[in-house]
Amino acid sequence: MCGVERPRILWAPPEERAESDCACPGAGAPPEPELPEPSSGLWERVPDLFWAPLPDGHRAVFNPWGRAGVVVLNRPAVALLDGFRRPRRLDGGPAHQMAALELLRPAGRGDVVPRPAASSPALTAWLHVTNACNLRCTYCYVAKTHESMDETTGLAAVEAIFRAARRHGFRAVKLKYAGGEPTLNFPLVVRLHQHARNLASRHGVALRAVLLSNGVALRPSVLAWLRDQSVRLMISLDGIGPTHDVQRPFAGGQGSFDRVVRGIEAAVAHNIVPHLSITVTAATADHVAAVVDFALDHELPFNLNFYRDHTVRAPAGAWRADEERLIRGVRAAFARIEARLPRRRLIDALVDRSAFDTPHTLACGAGHHYLVVDHRGRVARCHMEIERPIADVWADDPLGAVRAHGEGFVNLPVDEMAECRTCPWRYWCAGGCPLLTFRVTGRSDVKSPYCHVYRALYPHVVRLEGLRLVKWGTPLPT
Ligand code: SF4
Ligand code: SF4
Repeated sequence: MCGVERPRILWAPPEERAESDCACPGAGAPPEPELPEPSSGLWERVPDLFWAPLPDGHRAVFNPWGRAGVVVLNRPAVALLDGFRRPRRLDGGPAHQMAALELLRPAGRGDVVPRPAASSPALTAWLHVTNACNLRCTYCYVAKTHESMDETTGLAAVEAIFRAARRHGFRAVKLKYAGGEPTLNFPLVVRLHQHARNLASRHGVALRAVLLSNGVALRPSVLAWLRDQSVRLMISLDGIGPTHDVQRPFAGGQGSFDRVVRGIEAAVAHNIVPHLSITVTAATADHVAAVVDFALDHELPFNLNFYRDHTVRAPAGAWRADEERLIRGVRAAFARIEARLPRRRLIDALVDRSAFDTPHTLACGAGHHYLVVDHRGRVARCHMEIERPIADVWADDPLGAVRAHGEGFVNLPVDEMAECRTCPWRYWCAGGCPLLTFRVTGRSDVKSPYCHVYRALYPHVVRLEGLRLVKWGTPLPT
């Protein structure tokens, strides 16, 4: 039977993000869309919508001020939305859905842009259980030694984290077992996690945890424990074969790629889904597509991190890819994704620290809801500032000390950053890594050194998500 095409809206709620090394906004809990129930009265189309054309007359539409992320409309739905250029009443299911997805807004609101909350329900903590590592990655910011965290320090760290969570009103704690290579001090990870579970249960705080590993020595007993304890596993993989090996060699100089792949396969064999952390540097920018292909082949979540300058080994800027090469390399990876469009949502993982699951004003939790504890129990604001402690775990309120710290970078809300406060992408980018911006520019109130790259890539990620929704999305009932 042929008939008039009806408005069709494709949308999917956010999924859990792939892990990264940083303290993401909202870390610790799956993002939950808080879409409003539309009220009666007159409604109008949100004026600043971003559009991307898709096949068969579909269009991806994105409200940079809304909470829904990317929505796909067919041609009649686009026409319906356009009809709201002049205020009207919601006159049926499709319009009602568009209002709920914040493509429509109550008429007469002028240019008011809703500001997302700056707070996070979760306190994230990095536990640097060892300063030792079996690799010598070229861009690593850890000045490695053979020192490890001892049990007394580790238990004090876990207690300080839960003390901070209670004192500052967090409902969830996310622990990152890290180093160095945390599997080199794995008995301590087991002990600390047991203690964290006890404290979480006693204080009614949700607990999530991830092990950040280089993947080269994942023993079956480690993998079984991770699976049984529901502790996530993040493995760093920067390229295929020599591309990975050139920046992630063993201490003796030989490449680690084959061992990492064996680690990934062993994890999968233990029913673990490892998250791949892919750091894109000047050495790997031309080869991002190949490692993204690997992730897609193995149906693994991944995160593209753009290299951030540090002060331990490489001279400033030495590992940061030239902007145009970086854009080309990442777009080549997008082309691979487009050719096979996975069911898994990727949009939050493709552009460095940017995330599209919930509008946010802070790029990360550094200085606000992030504690980094080194192997001696000293507390810093960011893992990349681990050599600059501010307090220690025996202090009454280490998070208070972190928040009060007035030197170095300031993690400002994006609305307070001169060049970002009028940017349409600001609640998804939030200005990028504040530490990188400070290291490169000496200022905290300016846009990211990667700004040009971000802005070049954002339209493409919106379109990619639209294509994914066309292939895998379920039409909303209208
Ligand atoms: S860094 Fe650039 S893309 Fe990000 S919010 Fe600032 S101006 Fe926008
Ligand atoms: S300051 Fe930069 S490196 Fe540190 S947690 Fe934030 S985004 Fe990550």
